[in-house]
Amino acid sequence: MRISGDWIDHPGTQALCAVLTEAGYQALFVGGCVRNALLGVAVADIDIATDARPKNVSDLAETAGFHVVPTGIEHGTVTVIAQGLAHEVTTFRRDVETDGRRAVVAFSTDVAEDAARRDLTMNALYARADGAVLDPLGGLPDLMARRVRFVGEAEARIREDYLRILRFFRFHAVYGDPAAGIDAEGLAACAANADGIEGLSRERIGAEMRKLLGARDPAPAVATMAQAGILARVLPGSDAKALSVLVHLEGDLAPRWQRRLVILGGIDPGDAFRLSRVETGSNTAVRDAVGSALTPAALGWKLGAEQAGDAVLCRAALFETLPPEHWQSEIARGVASTIPVTAADLMPALQGPALGKKLREIEARWLASNLYLRKSDLLA
Ligand code: ATP
Ligand code: MG
Repeated sequence: MRISGDWIDHPGTQALCAVLTEAGYQALFVGGCVRNALLGVAVADIDIATDARPKNVSDLAETAGFHVVPTGIEHGTVTVIAQGLAHEVTTFRRDVETDGRRAVVAFSTDVAEDAARRDLTMNALYARADGAVLDPLGGLPDLMARRVRFVGEAEARIREDYLRILRFFRFHAVYGDPAAGIDAEGLAACAANADGIEGLSRERIGAEMRKLLGARDPAPAVATMAQAGILARVLPGSDAKALSVLVHLEGDLAPRWQRRLVILGGIDPGDAFRLSRVETGSNTAVRDAVGSALTPAALGWKLGAEQAGDAVLCRAALFETLPPEHWQSEIARGVASTIPVTAADLMPALQGPALGKKLREIEARWLASNLYLRKSDLLA
């Protein structure tokens, strides 16, 4: 089995691998890049595993003229920018001790040990610089069948790092075979250890959940998470019921995790997922919009195209209706509209709070008219 891709052929990638192997070390692509190349999907970032110690990697790379950033040198990772392309180079590791959140790792020279500490069999595949695939744990058949399975005993692997519960569902949502369903042993172990999620940082939870909700169809995975008592722990007060309807209504539209998060509800998603202030603000704005009677055009004017689209689709999903006809062109009409009355039209007759009140009143009438009232109507 051999993988290929522009990123493998990139002269910087090849030069970096050559520098390591000519010094007598192994240089193996690992994780997402190998998995995605085998599945024929886009590769986001290049991870290289090596038996060279981080200091040796840095020295060799710098001598070769590459830029080196000590990204996570204490965990064994350095970033090497070779001819403009970034590579995360990590020394083989084995877990020495784990507390459910972070592992104490020791460097290793054995690729099988490095593979054994990875989370899922489809993430424990390696490839040499020429693309030849190495499969120390027999993960290849799982990947080909799109089976998401833990490396080793699921229960034990989850207790080492409870984030793996969320990763299990995320990878199932993104890469799993929906027809085959979720791995039963993995699911049982996730359900039995759901409490462990409480100890995870919300940043890590949020990062996984964004990726999960950004999958083409996260609905089956999220429904299973809800049944297993996991969704309520990551997002208290949420409800997974309308998510599958939403995904259905989306059709071929690009998935947006923000839209899927709105439909799940929840008491405080901004806090649960440590969203940024802007992200929390738009979550709240879209939730308010879903509960309003504003038309697609009015939503487009108020919120912009993306959030207006999210609000229209979420509203339809919640009420189990179709979105209004021509909703997309109506949103575009709203986005392109300008409210015909401004403060200047009302001054100097009105000032201060009275002016603000009048403007809000006019805005409400204009929105309620589906943006059709003209200046003369609004001033009358
Ligand atoms: P993507 O970058 O597309 O999300 P990826 O597989 O590269 O997918 P990363 O989170 O970047 O995922 O991790 C890189 C690799 O590190 C994984 O493929 C996996 O082998 C390993 N890994 C990441 N997180 C964990 C974890 N919590 N436990 C065990 N191994 C992990
Ligand atoms: Mg990655």
